[in-house]
Amino acid sequence: MPKSVQDVYHDFIWNNLNQDLAETLYDTPLVIMHDLYSRAPPILEKYRETLWHLPEKMSLLKKELISVNRNLGALTPGVHEAIETLESGAVEAAHQTVALGGPVYILNKAATAHRIATMTTERGLNLAPFFCVADYDIVQPELTNMRTPLMGKEGNLVSIPVPEEYKFSPVSQLPLPGKDWYEQVEESIRANYRPMFKALEGSARKVVDERLEQALSITRWAYINSTTAGNWAQRILARLFNIEGDLGIPLVPASSIEIRNLLVEGMEFLLSRKARERCLRAFDDTTTLIIESGYNPGMGRRDSSYVPFFYECPNEGCHRSRMELHYIDQGATVVLAGTCPTCGERIEIETPADTPYLGEVATHLSPRVDSRQFLVDTIIPTVAHIGGPGETAYYAQVIPCSKALDIPFPLFIKYPRVYFNTHWGESLGKSLEEKGVTILHRKDLFSIAGKITRFRRKERYDEMNDALSSLHDLIVSTHAGLNEHLREIGEKMDGLKGKDHHEMRSLKLEIERYLSWA
Ligand SMILES: [Zn+2]
Repeated sequence: MPKSVQDVYHDFIWNNLNQDLAETLYDTPLVIMHDLYSRAPPILEKYRETLWHLPEKMSLLKKELISVNRNLGALTPGVHEAIETLESGAVEAAHQTVALGGPVYILNKAATAHRIATMTTERGLNLAPFFCVADYDIVQPELTNMRTPLMGKEGNLVSIPVPEEYKFSPVSQLPLPGKDWYEQVEESIRANYRPMFKALEGSARKVVDERLEQALSITRWAYINSTTAGNWAQRILARLFNIEGDLGIPLVPASSIEIRNLLVEGMEFLLSRKARERCLRAFDDTTTLIIESGYNPGMGRRDSSYVPFFYECPNEGCHRSRMELHYIDQGATVVLAGTCPTCGERIEIETPADTPYLGEVATHLSPRVDSRQFLVDTIIPTVAHIGGPGETAYYAQVIPCSKALDIPFPLFIKYPRVYFNTHWGESLGKSLEEKGVTILHRKDLFSIAGKITRFRRKERYDEMNDALSSLHDLIVSTHAGLNEHLREIGEKMDGLKGKDHHEMRSLKLEIERYLSWA
């Protein structure tokens, strides 16, 4: 099977391989975060040539962001200051709105954006961090479900029910269920942590009990103050980023009506005949290049009817059902056509092909995954985007489009994932170790972790990177070993009966649980 295109990024950063591909697909990504200081100024210079960030537009944006972040209960002095300085250059992280605020790595994204902006500012180039909330995506299991830890390997499922009439709506529209539902959610989370906390005694037990209650008080406060799934997630994130932490990272929700009115200028640009054609060609050439170089692209090819945004049905009862539009070339004009999946009405938007005007429908348009960054850049001069593995894959197809359009585009930086230990993961590890299983929580891990810290403190970076690389190998090989162990157990179990079979089965469950926790 071909490797993912994100390996191009990794191999360049860690082993200085694939220089040509890394240049084409990632605009030669930063190897050291510190280097944003020297790489950002030419990008900012290019932004100044665009006239995208004129004072009038910037003051509308600031006004809206102050109001949004105040409503979220997180307009701290740091957030306020970041809003005031976004126009001189910014570092972005982004994510969708997910039940309970979403997976923990979203915090890594925000923290990395904050850290990189701070490092660059300390060197004398002022950059502000912000967090773009992609709250326009259609209701889907990935966004309405979240798992919290449980003794089993599956996790405890927290699921926001989707009423039939919201099946095609953006998450920003999905209503939150009543108080009974929320109370059940809280109780299920408590009930599932309890057996894990059992292993702890005395003050350690008291601390984790209190931490859990503190966490639940945040999700409860956010729930009480929100009416939609999108808003609930935003409140949790705003609170964690800026009140629990003090990152000074404003949230920029893409579905706010005022922000949609500002994003439309970028949509008109991307839709204009020349830009659209250049972009489609670059996207196609890049996809071919990725495949011919032996990698899997993050996104499929675009067809010739591609429109760089979606439309939300304005009809009553459709709850902004989201639909794809198709490009119908009629010479001087273009028709964007789509059909509402809820009411079945056919939508047609007609506009000049060379210089489109979308002002009248602006509040019903929303970005796509591959146009989001371009659109955000037209309202905030973004010099770096912090992303995860998924984004590493699809930015490889988006970055070359910005070159074809000759417009500024942020450098892509993959955030360092932080993992943390838990009491229950460690005690499960111990129990497995006693049964002869090779686990991650072992001496080698702690000794490498110690080395990384020591070398970093002594600024011996080459040795630190070697240690990081062995940490990577240790994690990957332990993971592979545990999966191999599972496979062997599966084979052995076939030949066993009674007590032996039962013991083997419980070992299998323990390993599976460990794999899902560690
Ligand atoms: Zn409709």
